[in-house]
Amino acid sequence: MTHEPQRDAEELILAARKSIADFCVTACRQSCCKRGGLFAREDEINLVTQGNPSLARKTRGGLYKIALAPCPSLDGDTGRCLIYDKRPQMCIEYPIRIADLNSEKVLVVNECDAVSRGLLDSQIEQIKQMGYRVI
Ligand code: SF4
Ligand code: SF4
Repeated sequence: MTHEPQRDAEELILAARKSIADFCVTACRQSCCKRGGLFAREDEINLVTQGNPSLARKTRGGLYKIALAPCPSLDGDTGRCLIYDKRPQMCIEYPIRIADLNSEKVLVVNECDAVSRGLLDSQIEQIKQMGYRVI
């Protein structure tokens, strides 16, 4: 696969995430942040744990799992992320992302309420038509 189609897919995926932004806040009310179980890179742990890195455990894959729900960076009063502009890459890319650089696989998290309700079905279909395997 060349880079041009991947760029098209990335733009489509970015637009797909943006399309559910209101639903995340008003309808789903950040249930993924409440579920916890976030994975983060080592350099993201201190921030996401609000300065309690002992909450994170290294996994075999090299990422760290934050063993706490809700996420320590979720503001319980407002339901918003305290570190939104600096949130971990995995949060930015949730619930849909291209698996890896030059990958032909797109990962979709079925536990996401927007995904399970079909709000991203049309974008997922377009991604499949671009030749990506959705897993
Ligand atoms: S679970 Fe999905 S719909 Fe709900 S807040 Fe998270 S990304 Fe948004
Ligand atoms: S860092 Fe922010 S976006 Fe990520 S799970 Fe925690 S509250 Fe949600």
